[in-house]
Amino acid sequence: MDTNCIFCRIIRGEIPVSKLYEDSQVIAILDINPIRPGHTLLIPKKHYASLSELTPAEQVTWLQPLDKLSRAIVRGTGSEGFNLLLNNGRCAGQVVPHLHIHIIPRKNDDEVSFHWNPRPYPPGLIEKTLNQISNHLVR
Ligand code: 5GP
Ligand code: ZN
Repeated sequence: MDTNCIFCRIIRGEIPVSKLYEDSQVIAILDINPIRPGHTLLIPKKHYASLSELTPAEQVTWLQPLDKLSRAIVRGTGSEGFNLLLNNGRCAGQVVPHLHIHIIPRKNDDEVSFHWNPRPYPPGLIEKTLNQISNHLVR
């Protein structure tokens, strides 16, 4: 537990939240500034800043409620789909340094935009990138 972390404080019950789900390992709460109503954060109770700090067993446990939650969120908000978003690191938009995954319910024509800017690889770069990443894959 990190005394100054906002999510640790929420988990300790020090800050009121709209709690959707809780078990011994995780908590799911409604985001206070939703992209759409029903936008939910699934948060492991232990203070980990990043995905790579969890053990493989913890990674599985943490993500277990995801399917149940996302189906309830989609049905409960009359949505048609959802985005999962994990901002890992400040450069990726992570503001709260306590691991969490966003579940964002979506509807056709909901006018939500994420401003990604995808572009094709220039010649040769896809092979080089594949090699660079593969070299760092551990069993
Ligand atoms: P990040 O950018 O770190 O992935 O997202 C952090 C999220 O936590 C933001 O979407 C923000 O609205 C949400 N958040 C921050 N503080 C609180 C809070 O006190 N209560 C709730 N329910 N959500 C919060
Ligand atoms: Zn924390």
